Amino acid sequence: MSLESVFSLPEMVEVWQETLNWQPTNDQQNQLQKLYELVIEANHYVNLTRITEASEFWEKHLWDSLRGVAPKQHFIDSLHPGASVIDIGTGAGFPGLPISIIFPNSQVTLLDSTRKKINFIDSVLTDLPLINAKTIVGRVEEIGQESKHRENYDLAVIRAVGSVSACAEYSLPLVKKGGLAVIYRGSWTKEENQSLENAVYHLGGEVELIDEFTTPLSNSIRHCLYLRKVKHTPVSFPRPVGIPTQKPL
Ligand code: SAM
Repeated sequence: MSLESVFSLPEMVEVWQETLNWQPTNDQQNQLQKLYELVIEANHYVNLTRITEASEFWEKHLWDSLRGVAPKQHFIDSLHPGASVIDIGTGAGFPGLPISIIFPNSQVTLLDSTRKKINFIDSVLTDLPLINAKTIVGRVEEIGQESKHRENYDLAVIRAVGSVSACAEYSLPLVKKGGLAVIYRGSWTKEENQSLENAVYHLGGEVELIDEFTTPLSNSIRHCLYLRKVKHTPVSFPRPVGIPTQKPL
């Protein structure tokens, strides 16, 4: 295999069309390609991801990030022009960076507690360039209690950050009344429904949809949980750093 093909993302025009009823423009495809190259390059000195092969990166980072905000083959209304979005525990920028590339009229905040990862994302924002995204280094339990962030976002996305009840406690306080939190999961069992319903109820939300699907290349199972914010979240949430994981709701 040539070096070029190793580092060239597949276009997957038909798969995008079939699964999301959408296709990236040439500019967007170029930006996704550049994002891939920047992740691969930085991965030599910061531990960002173990997913480096082009088609796997396409499926598990790019497609997966966007599929979460496109249940039922349509991008969600919470991504309207001017929407404010926060990606909690963004790591190397997923799902937040693909969202900010595809929705240039949204304002995306990328939050992580690890300075090294945020430094990498800052360099991506300069290199791509992306002007509709900004970063914050911090713990979501603290950010969620700051008035400039609390109930300030139309959409919160969170992937691979903790248990489902911790993810609900991290995300719902940041969402405006009427807005949406999307929790990206791999597997999901019916038994988990009860703890999710319970956590969401305490946080002023409602479970709007649990969407089960398979990824298009490796047929892996995924679930996305869509939580609608229907009431203000009590001020006691999120609880102090560490408590949401130590004492799940
Ligand atoms: N969301 C990315 C993805 O799916 O590729 C990264 C997932 S990584 C497994 C979890 C990330 O969440 C790490 O980068 C970690 O630093 C961050 N994180 C964990 N707990 C956090 C907290 N309480 N506040 C902010 N970031 C947190």
